Formats: sequence, C-alpha cells, structure tokens
Amino acid sequence: MKLGTKLIHAGVAPDPATGAIMTPIYQTSTFVQEAPGVHKGYEYARTGNPTRTALQNALAAVENGNHGLCFGSGLAATDAILKLLNPGDEIIATNDLYGGTYRIFTKVFERYGIRFHFISMSDVNNISNFVNENTRMVWIETPTNPLLNIIDIEGAARVAQQHNLLLCVDNTFASPYLQNPLDLGADMVVHSATKYIGGHSDVVHGAIIVKEESIAQQLAFIQNSCGAVPGPQDCFLVLRGLKTLHVRMQRHCENGEIIAHFLRNHPKVDKVFWCGFTDHPNHDIAKEQMRGFGGMMSFTLKDDSAEAAQKVLSRTHFFSLAESLGGVESLIGHPASMTHASIPREERLKNGLVDSLIRLSVGIEDAGDLQDDLKQAIG
Ligand SMILES: *Cc1c(COP(=O)(O)O)cnc(C)c1O
Repeated sequence: MKLGTKLIHAGVAPDPATGAIMTPIYQTSTFVQEAPGVHKGYEYARTGNPTRTALQNALAAVENGNHGLCFGSGLAATDAILKLLNPGDEIIATNDLYGGTYRIFTKVFERYGIRFHFISMSDVNNISNFVNENTRMVWIETPTNPLLNIIDIEGAARVAQQHNLLLCVDNTFASPYLQNPLDLGADMVVHSATKYIGGHSDVVHGAIIVKEESIAQQLAFIQNSCGAVPGPQDCFLVLRGLKTLHVRMQRHCENGEIIAHFLRNHPKVDKVFWCGFTDHPNHDIAKEQMRGFGGMMSFTLKDDSAEAAQKVLSRTHFFSLAESLGGVESLIGHPASMTHASIPREERLKNGLVDSLIRLSVGIEDAGDLQDDLKQAIG
C-alpha cells in the first residue's frame, strides 16, 4: 500500500457495532466485562480506547513502524521517552531543538539526574566525541526548528548503532509524508501531531512510533502508568487530519518553494533558511532522505534591528502572528520572543538564532496572495 492509500485506510475499519465508516468517538471511561477478566480487549480508557487504537495503528502504518502510541501532546510523548532512562544516563541531542524540548530536558529531567549534551550534528561523526559509558540515547530533530538545519538520519543511526544507543527522531517538521526515520535506522519517531499531522490548528496531540516490540511494551507501560493519554475526541480529530496529510503537504511544498524564492530575491531580505535551496549546507542529505522540502522557513532582514522585524510581524494579514505551525493557514512568528524564549539568549546566539529571525509556516492558501501579503509587510 502506498502512503496516500495508507493515510486513508490504514488502522481503520468500519465500526463493528453499526458499520459507521468513520471510527466513532468512544467517549467512555470504562468498558463492561461479561465476567471478571472477560472483555472485548478494553477495560479502562487510560489503558486503551478504540478511537485511540485506530489512530495508533494508522500512525504506525504511515511511519512504517509496528507500534504507535498516542499522548496528550508532543511533549507528553517526549516525557514518556525520557522515562525509559534512569538517573545517571546521558542523552546526546542536537543543539538546534524545539524550545519546549530543550526546556523539558534541562528544567525537568536534569533534576532527575539525566544529563544532556547539546551538540552540532551537521556532521554526525561529531556524536561519537560525546559518547561515554553512561550514554543511552541520541536525540535529533530534522529539519531543525527554526533554522532548518538538516541532520543525516541514516548516518546518525549508524553512529548510534556502533555505540549501542537508541536513536530518537522528532519528525514533526517533516511529517510522515516527507520523511520516515524508522526506514533510515531510527529506533523511535516522535511527533507533535498538533502540527502537520493534525493539520488544522484545532488539537494538541503527540505520538511515538517504533518498530521494536520490547521498546513498544516499555512505552505502553509508561503511557498507562503515567497516564498522559489523549481523549477520544482529540484522537478523532487527528485521525481526520491524517487522511488529507498527503494532499496538504503537496501544497505546503509548492507554496513553500514559491515563498522561499520570493524572499531570497527580495532586496530587503538578508538570509533565507529553507532546506530546498541547492546551496543549503546539507541540501544533498535533505534530497536523499526527504520527499520534498516543506513549508517551514525562516529569514532575516538586511536591517537587523528588532524594530524592523517587529514591523513585518505586525503587518501581515494572511500570515497570522502565532506560535505553532503546520496548519492549513499561514503563520508568522518570532522565535527569540515566542517559541524559543525558553532557551537562554547566549545559547540562542551561539546556535545562530538571532533576535531578528522571523519564522514562517507557509499554509495552503493561494501562493500569490501569500506572496503579496509578505511583499506589503516587508515594504
Ligand atoms: C510543537 C513541537 C513539539 C511539542 O509538541 P506539543 O504538541 O506542543 O507538546 C515538539 N517538537 C517540535 C519540533 C515541535 O514543533
């Protein structure tokens, strides 16, 4: 089955009770048993719910994994993965991470004795330099947020395997349409389904997809024991979003390409960060591991004052000033004061995230309208 078919059919079956073609929202906390321990596979909705099961199976299929696990948010999924570790264990992570991931690593899990190394992974061989006997996991995000750096997933998997480490890939920016990390050797894929998978900015949701039965069992134990599960209504919305992922992503890619080139040719724009440019430092890897380059990009103005950036941010009409990304509507944001404010300024600057950086999530509106909107906003 090809992806476009999987997105619509995988994991879902007509409702056995009524024949409803859409998986019902099983809004129930418990399930009646015929006799103690005799039931239809469901006992209590934290442990399992049929709407969630349909979504978990669909996500497993579209990421070419064997097991999917859903959570109340992307960060709840990340939290579950970190709970695979013990005090004293170490993670090597990329230095250009989603701000919330950086925050849960440093402000929550460091207090529980887990250590993190944030390093550049534009050359994955750098990972080996930070491995010691306590290292358990490598954590990457690619393309990265908000600088659209690309990390070689297959190369990172090779290094992780050499040292017997788990490789976790945050695939939120690419979505399963553009990239499937499990096929490239990753052990775990994590998604903020709030973004492209949900696709309509109407739900907060997270997921983990794995191949290995033993990792799936540990994660299912954590999912049930810690309880950060999504409700059935949210699972329904994500399942509905998933069905159009391929069609939306095609348009995100088309519009992204148009807007990236428009910005690059604009006399007032300085740098544009988008992995589809042939002179992007890791464009060849992006081309190799992705099916397209998506609608996420960021840019700076030649006038690098905070005021110049503020002006653009406040003048767009179709690009709404908001956190988040991946919805059908276009968004504009200022990482330094919004999504990445939780990263200390020195850390941000060290990694090239300057105060004047503007991030775009290019939606699926008419590309000409989007271009005109940016044109008048940049002036
Ligand atoms: C939004 C986001 C997250 C966190 O997901 P939530 O659903 O907001 O908890 C993690 N990683 C990336 C890359 C994100 O964009």
